[in-house]
Amino acid sequence: MINIKRLWRRRKKLIVAFIAAAGSFLVGVTMPVNLRADRPEPPSPAKVVAVSQLQIQNPSPKVGKVKQAIDRRVAFSQQAIEQLQENRFDSALPSLFRGTTLRQARLDSQQKAIALTFDDGPWPRTTEQILDILKKNNIKATFFWVGRYLQAFPELGKKVAAADHAIGNHTWNHQYHQYNYRGAAREIDRTTSLIQEVTGVKTSMFRPPGGILTNGLVNYAQKNNYATIMWSADSLDWRSSTQSLMENVMRQANSGGIVLMHDGGGDRSRTVQALPKIISRLRKEGYRFVTVPELLQMEERHLKQQETAQR
Ligand SMILES: [Zn+2]
Repeated sequence: MINIKRLWRRRKKLIVAFIAAAGSFLVGVTMPVNLRADRPEPPSPAKVVAVSQLQIQNPSPKVGKVKQAIDRRVAFSQQAIEQLQENRFDSALPSLFRGTTLRQARLDSQQKAIALTFDDGPWPRTTEQILDILKKNNIKATFFWVGRYLQAFPELGKKVAAADHAIGNHTWNHQYHQYNYRGAAREIDRTTSLIQEVTGVKTSMFRPPGGILTNGLVNYAQKNNYATIMWSADSLDWRSSTQSLMENVMRQANSGGIVLMHDGGGDRSRTVQALPKIISRLRKEGYRFVTVPELLQMEERHLKQQETAQR
């Protein structure tokens, strides 16, 4: 009788442990991506394992099987959470570059890597056309979004993020006037919040409209630990013919370079026309295409190698 009671108690604990493990798995998988991104620490499956191990001491063969099933479930849940986190945060910049302003990455000249960037979207038609070209060429790029356009076209934003391109903040209103600290905070914070809400990505990249560094926006971005991402090759696509915007890019392309183009903010059909040619010409010159965070990760590795070599 006592044995049966014990066994029942053990089973009860087992059921509780199983429900806890399954619950943590379901919470991890079903919670909206933006909520997960808010919480740096997900429910810890490791803790659930510890509890279930404490509770299931000296299991009988049958109990052992149930425990194995729970362990497998917990391991799967842990994997799923880690995978999701990795996907959401792989655009993270090396901390080295937070709070700084960059025009390009300093790479070993042998490493011919370049980052294509597209500003002022999301924008009807042209954003999707550019996504198609990038997909056909198997290229990941970086998009700097205007908050109010993302608010108008969130589905386009979701498509960009789903294709694993990197995303940065290009203010809410895209204006060039002087901002005080509070005004700059509104422009930048509101955009970052919406990007996170729509895509789950918490961006730490900022690009000032018009490349203006002195109107208060960059000051706010730096104090708040954004990396300000400028460019080394300006396509001038907003005022150039297809041919000359292509030549502008080719003339200024270099290893570690950041190329400025536009997918939104006006008629970008010339950019769409020039892009496949720009890609194929850069490829012929030996360049490979990376996102801005990837480019900066390459610089970080390069700096570390130099440090090790000097020691
Ligand atoms: Zn812009």
